[in-house]
Amino acid sequence: MARGMVIIGAGECGGRAALALRDLGYDGPVTLVGDEPHLPYERPPLSKEAMASDAPEIKAIASDAVLVERSIRHIHSVQAVAIDRAAHRVRLSDGSVLPYDKLLLATGSTPRKLPMPGLGVRCVYLRTFADALAIRGHLGAGNRIAVIGGGFIGLELAAAARKLCAAVTVIEAQPRILMRGVPAEIAEIIHQAHVAEGVDIVCGQGIASIADDGRQVYLTLAGGREISADLAIIGIGAVPVTGLAAEAGLTIDNGIAVDAELRSSDPDIFAAGDCCSFPLAVYGGRRVRLEAWRNAQEQGALAAKNMLGAGEAHAAVPWFWSDQYGLSLQIAGLSDEGRNTVRRDLGDGAFILFHLAEDGRLVAASGIGPGNAVARDIRLAEMLIGKRAKPAPEALGSQAVKLKSLLAA
Ligand code: FAD
Ligand code: NAP
Repeated sequence: MARGMVIIGAGECGGRAALALRDLGYDGPVTLVGDEPHLPYERPPLSKEAMASDAPEIKAIASDAVLVERSIRHIHSVQAVAIDRAAHRVRLSDGSVLPYDKLLLATGSTPRKLPMPGLGVRCVYLRTFADALAIRGHLGAGNRIAVIGGGFIGLELAAAARKLCAAVTVIEAQPRILMRGVPAEIAEIIHQAHVAEGVDIVCGQGIASIADDGRQVYLTLAGGREISADLAIIGIGAVPVTGLAAEAGLTIDNGIAVDAELRSSDPDIFAAGDCCSFPLAVYGGRRVRLEAWRNAQEQGALAAKNMLGAGEAHAAVPWFWSDQYGLSLQIAGLSDEGRNTVRRDLGDGAFILFHLAEDGRLVAASGIGPGNAVARDIRLAEMLIGKRAKPAPEALGSQAVKLKSLLAA
């Protein structure tokens, strides 16, 4: 009898992989193990819609009814603690043991911790629904929020907190916000949008010290400025969850190292989503680790296929978005691969920066604008990147030339 498929991590990637196994017709046992008490759920709303609601709810990837109907066994509130690779078994924190034919590690990432003394209950991170509920309770008129880290979590939460009339200070150690992966021209527009909404942004200064008395947090910045707040939200990046894989002797390289088929150094163990690093075909096999919603979905589905023996290589172009106030930012590809930039204005203040490699190949596109203004053109850019196209810079920059026509060329 088949031992079946076991998936560790019931998040975006694990949840999608379980559903995909059934979509692909697999009829053996499928077990999804997660250490959170919830159904698999979407994380992007945690820093957006959940903060706008008085009673935040989980946005589930699959309901209980769907999991039952599809014969997916969901074990929640339990951690996988060890993998016995020789025996093909996973041991769980409740003492039970799960046999597997193929195992998928979709353990995600976890907030990078601020490495300094003085942190207490008023210093928090955001990764889970429980974190979001705790933070939401502190956002409101009259509350003072210090956000440490001018990345996506920090800025999305700053926007949400301002909408609820909290006073917000963002502290970013780098010279500007969104230093990693977002071009300066676009980061500046986001910076100005926050300033216009009343956010105090301090760049180029780390935190020298923190004290937390359980009611307030007192921060001293490297430049000497002192800030007190009711809550300090720390968003200084995420690190892949690799402990289980490392203990089992799998190769780790900025995440669980997998090949283009998402197979780890053990042929019966796959890894996907935030926790893995993989060779990205569109950039000549450059090894990357992506922390993005769509990547977790796509890799969950691809891992399911390959656990069933499809042997399909990952070929997607990275893409992610962020919403702040009425602005939506979208980036396709890896902008650090670019050497030259061409700007295309789309009207209403929306624009796209096309990033071209030395040889003229389009390697990324970064767009910003109100609402959905850049979505269609970023989608077309993504297809051009996937085709490794070398469109003429003048054509990319001209609104008169339809991007669709460049695809056909
Ligand atoms: P996760 O969703 O982190 O799921 C992993 C799960 O595995 C977790 O539940 C974890 O607790 C569990 N787990 C770990 N180890 C074990 C174990 N040993 N046993 C059992 N369970 C285990 N991306 C975008 O592109 N756009 C956005 O706007 C966006 N917004 C975001 C907002 C927030 C607040 C956060 C936190 C992330 C956001 N992301 C966004 C990123 C996106 O949500 C992640 O890339 C995605 O969730 C990754 O999916 P994953 O399944 O790999 O990991
Ligand atoms: P992030 O986007 O990597 O940003 C963290 C920022 O904090 C970086 O600019 C970082 O600078 C800075 N920083 C690091 N140490 C600092 C310090 N000591 N003091 C002040 N600033 C410091 O990470 P994040 O915002 O924490 O997000 C965490 C996870 O959530 C990621 O996986 C992210 O993808 C995901 N998320 C995504 C979205 C989205 O895509 N829209 C939204 C929310 C969350 P360095 O670069 O120098 O480290």
